[in-house]
Amino acid sequence: MAAIKKILMLPGDGIGPEVVEEVRRVMGWMEKRGLISFELEEDLIGGSCIDEYGVPLRSETIGLAKSADAVLLGAVGGPKWDNVAFDVRPEAGLLEMRKELGLFANLRPAVVFDALADSSSLKREVILGLNILIVRELTGGIYFGEPRGVETLPDGGRRGYNTLVYTTDEVHRIGRVGFELALKRNGRLCSVDKANVLECTRMWREEINRIAEDFPSVELSHMLVDNAAMQIVRDPQQFDVIVTTNMFGDILSDAASMATGSLGMLPSASLGSLDNSGNRNALYEPVHGTAPDIAGQGKANPLAMVLSFAMMLRYSFNMDEVADSIEHSVESVLNLGLRTRDIMTEGKTCVSTSAMGDAVIAALEKLYK
Ligand code: NAD
Repeated sequence: MAAIKKILMLPGDGIGPEVVEEVRRVMGWMEKRGLISFELEEDLIGGSCIDEYGVPLRSETIGLAKSADAVLLGAVGGPKWDNVAFDVRPEAGLLEMRKELGLFANLRPAVVFDALADSSSLKREVILGLNILIVRELTGGIYFGEPRGVETLPDGGRRGYNTLVYTTDEVHRIGRVGFELALKRNGRLCSVDKANVLECTRMWREEINRIAEDFPSVELSHMLVDNAAMQIVRDPQQFDVIVTTNMFGDILSDAASMATGSLGMLPSASLGSLDNSGNRNALYEPVHGTAPDIAGQGKANPLAMVLSFAMMLRYSFNMDEVADSIEHSVESVLNLGLRTRDIMTEGKTCVSTSAMGDAVIAALEKLYK
């Protein structure tokens, strides 16, 4: 009897529903194969929720998310809601969801598929086979530290300030996620800080060293953020897992992801703390937004969403084998020369969102024959 997993689906706005639909089909394929059973709930978030209820996220939806085994989210926002009040804008719904679920660890893989290596702005030989996982602390650091603000000085000038703050508990919980993920991958963890200038991150480095004692088989290194930024574009292959603060992770994950070439290919996961029964809240979403310019036209690339679902299988359900199969299927579809418009190059075949979904399922069928 296959395990039953309760998933909250939040398609959101723009291309969100279109790409979520392709994951729903992959889920259906898995169920038909007897690999797993899903109990699916669906709800509104973002602009579509504002249209229906006047708010970007309802407390009922937060309740559903908390009781689900995992949340799958499309994307939120779009020009239609650009002029709504700041605190009820679509993105506020997503931020509130992350906060309510205590999602402190953001996982952003940067993987280069050989077939897309030429889409990168970096040289093919630098990025071929690239596979980095950036673990960004998501709920602390300078983005949330107090005091913060802008004040007017007696001379009429202004003074703006933010506070970089981390506690040992915050460093330990994100650090442990980094070590655990390194154990699941190639056993190497690089902690990125600015210990030569910022006391707070000197403390970060000391605490990471402290928890390293619990993970003797992980090879730990430390790197200053300015060097890390340089190394990500110079020699990204040297990294396996990178763990870092909120702001450094924000910047480095964007730099690393661009090495891979396309927004439509980038998945992400955000994880909360483990509870006593070993479960954690988790939300999986593509890095891209709602792409209003192509919404409703069948042009969206569903692969980032499909790869986010593979992360769900790997990190929430420990189904590494099926996650590997989905990733291999994506790779083989690309090797066949199929492309959505965003990754289209000369000599390849341009396909629609649903045709790309069909191809992924056909590739899965082939793997499981
Ligand atoms: P975007 O990621 O939506 O689009 C940027 C460009 O990439 C567009 O040309 C778009 O067509 C293309 N693109 C993105 N995803 C694609 C896909 N899967 N397939 C094919 N092409 C794709 O970023 P944007 O234009 O800056 O933002 C549009 C809206 O999305 C805004 O309202 C923004 O606030 C929102 N947004 C939401 C999220 C989120 O929900 N996490 C993230 C980023 C942006």
